Amino acid sequence: MTVGAPGAASRPIVIAIDGPAGSGKSTLSRALAARLGIQRLDTGAMYRAVAWAVLQRQVDPTDADAVADVAQTLAIDVGDRVSADGTDITEAIRGVEVSATVSAVAANPAVRALMVERQRQWVASHGGGVVEGRDIGSVVLPDAVLKLYLDASPDVRAARRSEEGAEAVARRDRLDSTRAASPLEVPDGARLIDTGAHSVEEIVKMVVAWL
Ligand code: C5P
Repeated sequence: MTVGAPGAASRPIVIAIDGPAGSGKSTLSRALAARLGIQRLDTGAMYRAVAWAVLQRQVDPTDADAVADVAQTLAIDVGDRVSADGTDITEAIRGVEVSATVSAVAANPAVRALMVERQRQWVASHGGGVVEGRDIGSVVLPDAVLKLYLDASPDVRAARRSEEGAEAVARRDRLDSTRAASPLEVPDGARLIDTGAHSVEEIVKMVVAWL
């Protein structure tokens, strides 16, 4: 699917969605992808897959070289299900252990460089799509047709992540926002959406009108 004025060169729809944990990125990206008939990429699942493999291989998450080596050699497949080296890890990557480890792994610049490259390749090979994460509008796809930054109050976000716990969510957000390598931030030109203030349907309507 492409977007552009009639007669003008059209370009593929690329929508970048960023925001902290529990801000509603997955819900909105799923709804938008379905509405627009395009694919969706959950980049958080990629970092979670690396964290899962780090735990599985008993690598020290603070050993930058060893963690980068895990990321380099891991085959990650992210779709409706998530697999790593052929093992289905869809449920495992949502567990508290992976959630508690993923931010340290994602702060590793070598891991980020590898993931960013794979994410850009995914967009190129899918002819655009809805891509969600923490650095999508700022680093991965700064030329996206539309950049969204989602947020909601800490209480609303913690309630959406009740299994992880409010403290763990706050810790992860703090690590993600303060790391040196592409921290979570509002990308230039992003539209801000408070997902606690609107229904999913309202937000989808709003976003489609911005395209
Ligand atoms: O989106 P989700 O909560 O599943 O992301 C898990 C973790 O992956 C985040 O807390 C963050 O540390 C990392 N992440 C990232 N950059 C992205 C997507 C996720 O650093 N683009």
